[in-house]
Amino acid sequence: MVKNTAILGAGVSGLSLARFLLEGGAARDSVTLFEAAAEVGGLCRSRTVSGFTYDLTGGHILYSKDAAVMRWMKNAAGGDGAFVEKNRETKIRFGERWVHYPFENGLADLPREANFDCLKGYVEAWHRRTTDGSRAPEAFGAWVRWRFGDGIAKHFMDPYNGKVWKRELDFLTSDWVAGRVPDAPIEDVLRSAVGIRTEGYTHQSIFYYPRKGGFQAITDGIAGTVMDRVRLATPVKEIVREGRGWLVDGEPFDQVVSTLALTDLPRIVRGMPADVARAMSELEFNSITCILVALDRAEQPDLSWIYLPHDEQGPANRVTYMSNYSPENAPRGKSSFLCEVTHDSRAKTPGSELEGQVIAGLERAGLLSRSEVLFTDRETTRHAYVVFDHAYAARRARALGWLEEVGLVPLGRFGRFEYDNSDQCVIKARALAAQLGRPQAR
Ligand SMILES: Cc1cc2nc3c(=O)[nH]c(=O)nc-3n(C[C@H](O)[C@H](O)[C@H](O)COP(=O)(O)OP(=O)(O)OC[C@H]3O[C@@H](n4cnc5c(N)ncnc54)[C@H](O)[C@@H]3O)c2cc1C
Repeated sequence: MVKNTAILGAGVSGLSLARFLLEGGAARDSVTLFEAAAEVGGLCRSRTVSGFTYDLTGGHILYSKDAAVMRWMKNAAGGDGAFVEKNRETKIRFGERWVHYPFENGLADLPREANFDCLKGYVEAWHRRTTDGSRAPEAFGAWVRWRFGDGIAKHFMDPYNGKVWKRELDFLTSDWVAGRVPDAPIEDVLRSAVGIRTEGYTHQSIFYYPRKGGFQAITDGIAGTVMDRVRLATPVKEIVREGRGWLVDGEPFDQVVSTLALTDLPRIVRGMPADVARAMSELEFNSITCILVALDRAEQPDLSWIYLPHDEQGPANRVTYMSNYSPENAPRGKSSFLCEVTHDSRAKTPGSELEGQVIAGLERAGLLSRSEVLFTDRETTRHAYVVFDHAYAARRARALGWLEEVGLVPLGRFGRFEYDNSDQCVIKARALAAQLGRPQAR
């Protein structure tokens, strides 16, 4: 029997867990969600301003290797008919050129000198690591050179990753790259450099996006059957162990599942040892400011999103062609960009000068003319990217180890400090619901 459960946070993780518990037979009143914001959805929220819809934490797409989870997410939001199916078209803007993504599969799109630098470096790195048998370096900057060579490092990986992570690349580890940074065979890179097209990265080659309401339509859909169990605008302030259960702001529960960021728990959970509190507080993460640029023009190249690696392209590192995701994302005859600017969570949130800098950068990159801009809108999200520095694994292990000892269950992207997309949050919520729903051993 499922115990009386408090779920902290009504983002995709908390909402999915509540839904799986109730679908698994838990009594309705045994599940309570606490949500600080006035609406559900967390990082999956979207906003519509004057007919332009955008995702508040950067352009979101629905894709999962787990077909059952993708179906579950689609069904929750109205089924296939409620989604637009898109081919992923991603490119890198390089001066006046478009370079195929991933970069090492697009070398022929580069100016000849840059193509030569990249190819030379790639072959040298390949030769070095296949003859000396060296293992992948732990520091990310060193890993980039070991894997891709000096040319690709100089022309793309260093400037792009510097923009995203806002740190020296060797401050990061290479742990997070597996499965995230494409890993092309050398034959493909050689073919690409002489102009024979190779694909390189078929992951997410087709994705889905809600026709109406932005990505938030998915979390709204998941929330549909559990909304009566959600307490909105109710930030949890204190969690105290009492007997075999917990008090959440003074209210008793048998068990608590937290999707709140680990970095926030020391100020909320009472009785935490000092070293655990330190480990949690010192976990590093980046924030993001997303700027919608509404445009007075209809036509856009058929792109999904693009990468802007260079400083002269302004502070945005990625631009989503938001109006290409769904015809409902912009009024007829108009279009939109969604520009992502990351910042170290400890740095000041960029002021109102950011919009001007972003637009000037896009203008220099040849993506828009200032006179086409109708208006901008922005949202800053504090917890956006986990930063995988060298202390990350030890700090996270200490944090999760203690939570396990005391029986406070962590779930979600920042609840467990992992690089999870929404589908992975659903997969983990499904597994946790199965575990919590199992009869307890006496
Ligand atoms: C830039 C970017 C792009 C992304 N792109 C994609 C994509 O294309 N596709 C995809 O599937 N995923 C994408 N993701 C990942 C996706 O957004 C997350 O995996 C997912 O939304 C995390 O959900 P969550 O429920 O674990 O956490 P959250 O959404 O962070 O939910 C936590 C909830 O807890 C609430 N809360 C916080 N403090 C308190 C408190 N004290 N009391 C009560 N409630 C509280 C918050 O308001 C929030 O609603 C992207 C993420 C980022 C940052």
